[in-house]
Amino acid sequence: MKIAVLRERAEGESRVAATPETVGKFIGLGATVSVEEGAGLGSRIGDDQFVAAGATISPTVAIAVQGADIVLCVRRPSASTLTGVNPGALVIGALDPYGNEADVAALAQTGVTAMVMEFMPRITRAQVMDILSSQANLAGYQAVIEAAAVFERAMPMMMTAAGTVRPAKAFVMGAGVAGLQAIATAKRLGAVVSATDVRPAAKEQVESLGGKFIAVEDEEFKQAETAGGYAKQMSAEYQAKQAELTASHIAKQDIVITTALIPGRPAPRLITREMVESMAPGSVIVDLAAERGGNVELTQPGKVVDHNGVIIVGYTNVQGRIPTTASQLYARNILAFITTLIDAKEKKLAVNWDDELVKATVLTRDGAVVHPNFQQAAA
Ligand code: NAD
Repeated sequence: MKIAVLRERAEGESRVAATPETVGKFIGLGATVSVEEGAGLGSRIGDDQFVAAGATISPTVAIAVQGADIVLCVRRPSASTLTGVNPGALVIGALDPYGNEADVAALAQTGVTAMVMEFMPRITRAQVMDILSSQANLAGYQAVIEAAAVFERAMPMMMTAAGTVRPAKAFVMGAGVAGLQAIATAKRLGAVVSATDVRPAAKEQVESLGGKFIAVEDEEFKQAETAGGYAKQMSAEYQAKQAELTASHIAKQDIVITTALIPGRPAPRLITREMVESMAPGSVIVDLAAERGGNVELTQPGKVVDHNGVIIVGYTNVQGRIPTTASQLYARNILAFITTLIDAKEKKLAVNWDDELVKATVLTRDGAVVHPNFQQAAA
């Protein structure tokens, strides 16, 4: 059983899908591991470390994937990257299929079984495989670090001989995994923190971290939590009421961190140009939804912009800016999933196609796009 680890090709992607730690575990499970040369460099993992863990280094991607049963990646590889791959090989990664249907169809045509880690069900058994949580948690932390780096003032209250410095006010929009970590991190740095979310359950979580919850708590809000725990699209009326409340709040903030996402949809627009312009010069906004279109009207994905003195940080892939830790956790998520796909005694792949984790994550198989969410697109 051969596992291949790809070098990432997407611009700015510094993570890697395996670490020496997980390579050692794969070998313990009876696999051989082929790592594409330089795959770990963005995360400060040298080829020699992979070799010390028992992997071989492949000078080209073609050699890495040749004969592989499993191909590991962070970003979706193009069909041409996988040239020569065994049809039926499992390609496992954060494949980001929504809005990328043509690439998904090309991937299907290679014959591989593509498995989307983002589709892992959020059930207790799969928590250890939840890349959305492991990466969002780091993104939430890193968002506050990015804000602190461009904020030209101190965050905590300081009582000094030269007088008192007031603490910064930070507002976190979207209190899911990333938002909660942003709240915790901003608190640790001494900011006065408030937060909002459309899910009623978030209120208690925000308050338990010492944040103040800001939301229009009407009937629609109370009914907004869906069975899977994700946000649903709110009505235009609700959004208008909420925008009014948050607009007056944002005008008083020093730092705003936006993390609002709705799975499979563009990010909701939460901050308009007028709201940005209501903030004092020197304020900072970090838009963690930049990659999904942004929560902020003025966000430019991948860029830091200065709008009349308000700094808007629109980095995409913020977790990739803390790559060593992000790779460490991502690789462990992947290892946990793969452990369920192989028979360690027989040292071979043994995929249970009826397992709910497999059913939820398989996107392509036997030349076709098979995931139910993409059936219409495929038809
Ligand atoms: P996400 O990344 O999809 O969205 C981030 C947050 O944005 C969510 O809290 C969402 O409610 C919020 N949001 C969406 N639209 C908004 C708007 N217009 N205004 C303000 N906020 C808005 O979500 P996530 O962080 O992946 O987690 C979603 C939920 O799932 C959370 O409750 C989380 O605790 C839960 N979860 C459960 C498990 C599990 O294994 N059971 C694992 C991870 C997360």
